[in-house]
Amino acid sequence: MAGNWKMYKTPADTHVFFERFKPLVEDVEHCEIVICPSFVDLHVAVKETGGTQIRIGAQNLYWGREGAVTGEVSGHMIHSAGCSHVIVGHSERRQFFNESEAEVLRKTIAALENSLTPIVCVGEKLAEREANMTEGVLVEQFVGGIGGLTSDQFAKILVAYEPVWAIGTGKTATPAIAADAHRVLRREAAIRFGVEAARNLRILYGGSVKPDNIAKLMAEEEIDGALVGGASLDPESFSKIVNF
Ligand code: PEP
Repeated sequence: MAGNWKMYKTPADTHVFFERFKPLVEDVEHCEIVICPSFVDLHVAVKETGGTQIRIGAQNLYWGREGAVTGEVSGHMIHSAGCSHVIVGHSERRQFFNESEAEVLRKTIAALENSLTPIVCVGEKLAEREANMTEGVLVEQFVGGIGGLTSDQFAKILVAYEPVWAIGTGKTATPAIAADAHRVLRREAAIRFGVEAARNLRILYGGSVKPDNIAKLMAEEEIDGALVGGASLDPESFSKIVNF
């Protein structure tokens, strides 16, 4: 269960969140918990979660190790800061920062080279769904992005299916819609990396996941977890999702 805080919360807010969140999930053993705050909060988040099972991730990375790239943060830096995960290719980055599949692939490889688990996001826009293009878009994103990994690299990533029309809109994909998309991604994984790799791939669903819809989503065999935006900002609501 992963939380994406997007551009919310200061270091002080991060401290308050973990003070309340930690006791609510201290007995959790059935899943991994990852929280992805903004860069300025990572230090506090890593400190607050030391000695717990909660893992911390960043929301983006640059593929180089270091250099004259003003404003960017490398996988090496993120790992050195104590993170274990990083979100790659979130739809907001694709939409607002024009991230391409080639960049998603480069960033995914950079994450792996720095011992970070990439959570690679894919998903169709509303117009694409309405034009019956969902499957084609997912295949295109898979082939142009993570399809370029080696089998060893592919075995180490998490994929998040996040239909863009469901992110932050309150519109959740029905469990059946999400499961169908996950099956497309798993089929592509099987074609490129083999049946075993496809079976082992963990695919998270993201898009307006809330405490009251998580159980139905997780009841789908195809859905292995969730990437949660808005509802991960509140310790009670995210703990309810974790403890679905
Ligand atoms: C997200 O940002 O990845 C996301 C799924 O957001 P929300 O849960 O708010 O729709």
